[in-house]
Amino acid sequence: MSRHRNIRSMNVHDEYEGYDDVYGHSVEDDYGVSPATEAQFMYRRSEAPRLSSFIEESKKESIEEEEEYDYDDHEDHDHSLSDSQTFQWPRLSDQNEARLRSCLEEIQNVIGDSVPQHVLVDTVMRCDYDLEKALDAVLSIQDKPKEARPMPTAAAPPRTQGAGAGDRWQQAPAKEEAAPRVAQVSTPRRQVKTGFQPVATSSKQVTTGFQVPPADTREVIAENGLSGSTEAGEREDQQAVPTSQKAAGKTKQGVLDVAAELSKRDEGKEVINMVIIGHVDAGKSTLMGHLLYRMGHVNKKTMHKYEVESQKAGKASFAYAWVLDETGEERVRGITMDVGLTKFETDHKVVTLLDAPGHRDFIPNMITGAAQADVAILVVDASTGEFEAGFEAGGQTREHAMLVRSLGVTQLAVAINKLDTVGWSENRYQAIVKKLGHFLKQAGFKDSDVVYIPVSGLQGENLIKPASEPQLTAWYKGPCLLQQIDSFKSPSRPVDKPFRFCVSDVFKGMGSGFSVAGRLVAGSIQNSTRVMVMPVGETATVKGIAIHDFPMNWACAGDHATLTITGTDIMKVSVGSVLCDLANPILAASRIRARVIIFNIEVPITKGFPVVFHYQTLSEPANIRKLISLLHKSTGEVTRNKPRCLSKGNNAVVEVELNRPVCLELYKDNKDLGRFMLRYGSATIAAGVVTEILNDQK
Ligand code: GDP
Repeated sequence: MSRHRNIRSMNVHDEYEGYDDVYGHSVEDDYGVSPATEAQFMYRRSEAPRLSSFIEESKKESIEEEEEYDYDDHEDHDHSLSDSQTFQWPRLSDQNEARLRSCLEEIQNVIGDSVPQHVLVDTVMRCDYDLEKALDAVLSIQDKPKEARPMPTAAAPPRTQGAGAGDRWQQAPAKEEAAPRVAQVSTPRRQVKTGFQPVATSSKQVTTGFQVPPADTREVIAENGLSGSTEAGEREDQQAVPTSQKAAGKTKQGVLDVAAELSKRDEGKEVINMVIIGHVDAGKSTLMGHLLYRMGHVNKKTMHKYEVESQKAGKASFAYAWVLDETGEERVRGITMDVGLTKFETDHKVVTLLDAPGHRDFIPNMITGAAQADVAILVVDASTGEFEAGFEAGGQTREHAMLVRSLGVTQLAVAINKLDTVGWSENRYQAIVKKLGHFLKQAGFKDSDVVYIPVSGLQGENLIKPASEPQLTAWYKGPCLLQQIDSFKSPSRPVDKPFRFCVSDVFKGMGSGFSVAGRLVAGSIQNSTRVMVMPVGETATVKGIAIHDFPMNWACAGDHATLTITGTDIMKVSVGSVLCDLANPILAASRIRARVIIFNIEVPITKGFPVVFHYQTLSEPANIRKLISLLHKSTGEVTRNKPRCLSKGNNAVVEVELNRPVCLELYKDNKDLGRFMLRYGSATIAAGVVTEILNDQK
């Protein structure tokens, strides 16, 4: 993730300086050519066939014009799959084509190449892309006594004379007869031991352990899951093809026992994604910087350097904040990040720190971070007058808290910071708890899910160890910040739902394809799995998975991962795209019906009101197309149809029209992917959930 940023932030000139060394030019320009190669490629008039001899030849056999294959329409087809040059790939919608290809791949994984492709295509389409049915049908074709092969379509008429390409249609049945029965088919890819452990193939012995295995092996892993299976087990599996049709019919993701693998990962620790929010200067960077330092993620020498440098810069109090700011710099400069700074471990958790506090004041950024968070730390400044400034209208304390709640964060730790500036006053602490508590309840946080912790980010008090400051210990007996982080409830990971990966960044890596960073919201993904890119409806293949820069064979819901993908153009994938399950893609809509809660707005919302639709990592211009009804706040009953306008605090049903189709899910199906925020100018004016998709562009 860091490297692409580096590339993006380069000036054009920088980018091309030395660029050739890395990209594109794998062969030097001044290479030599062997005489054999030269002979093969050089044109020599004396050796060229004469036109007259060609005419002579053509007299002997009738030359029929072959129908041209429209490569423009089929440019990304895998021609090697075609078993006849006259076979015309059916014209299908992108999605049906993706389904067709996915079914073909799965069927060919089971039966190998024993059945010609056009038969498979025909069968899959007849079975309405139902993999199990199609597999059944193909297997029964194989069991039947051989019949004459179906004649090709009008687009590829059968040829009965001459040696034209059409002859292959006639010859094919013989090939089909020769095809072995399924149970005897041994596809070399399946005769591979699988698992996390060293992977061995007949042709290649892979001796390293935790590495991304070669592509063919990855496919096997993808098909067979990660629990190692023996060769014998594999063969048994193949011989039992008819009974294993169910397994074959599952998507690759379904084969992996994600829950079992997950429980083994990170020594069984649960992963939580945490965002730090709060008003500017509340002390977010200092607090997290000091916490990371105390946990040993920043060495003493580096910390000393920050202290000296910040002193020199006349900003001594910012030394700890620089720990995080330095991370930001590192990112921009493209140096590999110190993993410890974005990820740290507690006794029971692996915590991913989202959206470095360095990006302060930029709420759209914060929405992106918060949309990916499971829990939040709200930092408030306890110093006299400062808490009030952050809390009153215009301050970010309220807005941030409402935003995270609307984006689905339910657990909150409130760090009441800078308590050193008010002499560790219990009264001040209680006054803040009271004021905030009232507001947070209104914003939808349950009392039991909010914990208040008095701290001093600057002094490091009550951060990773229970408080030692006598003025504080005199009245506070609760947990320190780290203990609270450790005891957050782990969010559920919907690993058994269809795969959904929300893209928050797209960049070109060093190898083939390109990379996308983002969050797996549902399901799981394995290497070599084919996925659908929405809303464009293109298919792609996941060729590599990395979590925190470590290569992995799989990732699942809740993970922040970087996926390397091939088979589609980088231009087709952007921030806000969703990579999803081929068989069960996410919806794309430009018109939705939604239930919204209106925040603290000054100008009432009327029909046609322009807004910015913030959804996951995306922000898209939109407008409120219709005001459908006003709802009762607690019962949800309709109190009024077709209201003229919506004002502060209203609950309403509206129709939202987006400028472009956006990937969405109904709230009832997926809470994370069914909620959004609306902003106008620099204010967040509403939060909403999708109740209906009015024009599904699936
Ligand atoms: P952010 O904008 O929320 O990230 O705030 P910073 O971490 O940049 O802190 C803003 C200022 O508050 C800096 O000068 C810090 O030194 C100061 N500060 C942060 N935490 C504390 C604290 O616990 N006590 C005191 N006295 N000052 C603090």
